[in-house]
Amino acid sequence: MTELMLDAVSQSYGTRQIIAELSFSLNKGEIGCLLGPSGCGKTTALRCISGFEPIQAGAVLIGGEVVSRPGWMLAAEKRRVGMVFQDYALFPHLTVAKNVAFGLARGDKKAALVRVTELLALVGLATHASQFPHQLSGGQQQRVALARALAPRPQLLLMDEPFSNLDVELRERLSIEVRDILKREATTALIVTHDQHEAFSLADWVGVMHQGRIQQWDTPYNLYHKPVNRFVADFVGQGAMLTGDVLNSHQVNTELGVLDGFVPPECNTGGCQGCVRNCRVDVLLRPDDIVHDDDSLLQAEVENKAFRGAEFLYTLKLPSGQRALSLVPSHHNHAIGEKIGVKLAADHVVAFRRG
Ligand code: ADP
Ligand code: MG
Repeated sequence: MTELMLDAVSQSYGTRQIIAELSFSLNKGEIGCLLGPSGCGKTTALRCISGFEPIQAGAVLIGGEVVSRPGWMLAAEKRRVGMVFQDYALFPHLTVAKNVAFGLARGDKKAALVRVTELLALVGLATHASQFPHQLSGGQQQRVALARALAPRPQLLLMDEPFSNLDVELRERLSIEVRDILKREATTALIVTHDQHEAFSLADWVGVMHQGRIQQWDTPYNLYHKPVNRFVADFVGQGAMLTGDVLNSHQVNTELGVLDGFVPPECNTGGCQGCVRNCRVDVLLRPDDIVHDDDSLLQAEVENKAFRGAEFLYTLKLPSGQRALSLVPSHHNHAIGEKIGVKLAADHVVAFRRG
């Protein structure tokens, strides 16, 4: 069942359009993520969904009911939508338990206590019930904020950059924990972030946004391996573009050899109506598409290297002068300037028209 649906939603401040024709949907229990650079309209999209911002075109539906359309919106407090913000927004003078109980019905004290106990256990803070927010770490505070938002069993949970005040390591761990918590509560959630790792570890579906538009709404796997345009290819993951010549519908020739696989009908250009032989394209190669092989006749010069623990990320200079990235197990420790053997390990082709 579709829990959240945006149907071509547009919003403007004055004459300035902030989000344009935003369309996507989430089924019950699914986690979606809007991923994009600062200023692309992510928070505005959340405000349109939560009922804090009117929309000028399209419709927002929650649980199949229209909650926003041009000229009308259901008041925010009448939507069963929970919010978690970047700064947690906890009540400093209330204990953890009272923060979590805040949104619960006043009448039934016993039921409220059961729910608070259940949620504090779920977020791993059962022993912190009587502490105050300032006694907790940032990560713990964020988990209290999550518990508080989940307590009234919202139909939809919205989170705006929930981890951006936390350090990188904690961020990744917490996003995996939060995913687990949301899945156990079967909560439908939409999370906004500019951090790709967060999006990938949290979400079932990710929408990459740029200048108010969703460029691609897809699984993390497809965003990485099958980006539909250059913006998505650049924004998601690392990689380099290599010049290629289309040989036929399933092969592209590059300096590193022939890539086999499905060449999209227009090699993602939208222009060249079915690839013809010799169509010149840029081929996207991820660092894991190029592997180091001592026996390979193809040699590339190590131009730069970054130690990643288990791997080195090598920047390689190919004989033509083109650059490529390669992830290499870190026991292959080669010096800058050294020539090493490389070969292609890509099993599909992502190509864009040159320009
Ligand atoms: P993000 O959350 O992706 O960083 P926002 O949705 O906050 O982006 O903002 C998108 C654009 O809308 C920005 O250029 C911002 O300056 C503009 N904007 C946000 N809120 C307002 C407002 N109340 N009035 C006018 N412009 C706004
Ligand atoms: Mg924002």
